[in-house]
Amino acid sequence: MSNVENHILKDDSKNELITDRVFVREYLDKIPLNRQLSDQENADHESKIIALLIEKNTALIAHYYTDPLLQALADKTDGCVADSLEMARFGSTTSASSLMVCGVKFMGETAKILSPDKTVLMPTLEATCSLDIGCPIETFSAYCDQHSDHKVVVYANTSAEVKARADWVVTSAIAVAVVEHLLDQGEKIIWAPDKHLGRYIQNKLGAVGDDILLWDGACIVHEEFKLKALEDMKHLYPDAAVLAHPESPLAILNAADTVGSTTQIINAAVRRPEQKFIVATDSGIFYKLQQAAPEKEFIMAPTSGEGATCRSCAQCPWMGMNTLQNLYESLLEGSNEIHVDPKLGEQAMMPLQRMLDFKLIN
Ligand code: SF4
Repeated sequence: MSNVENHILKDDSKNELITDRVFVREYLDKIPLNRQLSDQENADHESKIIALLIEKNTALIAHYYTDPLLQALADKTDGCVADSLEMARFGSTTSASSLMVCGVKFMGETAKILSPDKTVLMPTLEATCSLDIGCPIETFSAYCDQHSDHKVVVYANTSAEVKARADWVVTSAIAVAVVEHLLDQGEKIIWAPDKHLGRYIQNKLGAVGDDILLWDGACIVHEEFKLKALEDMKHLYPDAAVLAHPESPLAILNAADTVGSTTQIINAAVRRPEQKFIVATDSGIFYKLQQAAPEKEFIMAPTSGEGATCRSCAQCPWMGMNTLQNLYESLLEGSNEIHVDPKLGEQAMMPLQRMLDFKLIN
């Protein structure tokens, strides 16, 4: 990865944004394509997984962006389908002695940090996140050192090392509230790694100057939503409301009727009066949206399509690496265990605990 200067947000118009997207593309090219299983193979895997979950006292925890087959299995086995924070919280409260986390690596790490005494497995350890990749600890820590008068607030989509370097960890659900709380106390902020969510926070709170310094990271899925195509779609569906995740570009967020985390998007779909919704986030969320509001219609927001960074737009390629096949193998063999150095875990727990406490009192 490139040096610290390459990760600091420069002026967009000068085309100087340099999270190392070539590196991300190269990483994606190495991901093997999953073989599509037949219905019979899926059913066989499901019954074997259910038996192993019981035998090994393991809870199945899946993120909203994973394959609907995995989400359905987590539902069916009294596991959990949720956003990253709720996944970790569920893992720490369940009576199961082991956790099988379907998602990307930072989610497994966060679950382990919150539940150090439990065994945490994942279907694959190769599934990562462009935000995590784009915020390597060495360069990020050097940047924090250069701005030691700023509080360090990082998004949950970061490594255990980056979390341990931070003062606060937040999810998209409470990012604005936490940063507002800190600005009210006269603090200045380093926000990392998602620049789009950072810009949204800056705009929302009217932050100026170096109140909030932004790291130059982005989600390769949300970054592909495009305003022009969205406006065209809104003409086609004039009665539809737009629901957008704040990792999307600011132009998309300005055009949205609701901006929120995955859980907030699902709640908005239930609560809002519209019958149709254009949804700007990973398409995996459609499983829970349809379950939560079966009478309503959901339409995928348009992406830039061919030539985009993502292999399949509006579908996280890393989330897609979690399959029934590798879930079964990991459970059977006890492989792909997540390890977090206990001392590092304790350090990372401090900013995580601030988030958990903040959520409880606000
Ligand atoms: S959807 Fe984006 S933010 Fe979520 S894991 Fe994939 S790359 Fe990371």
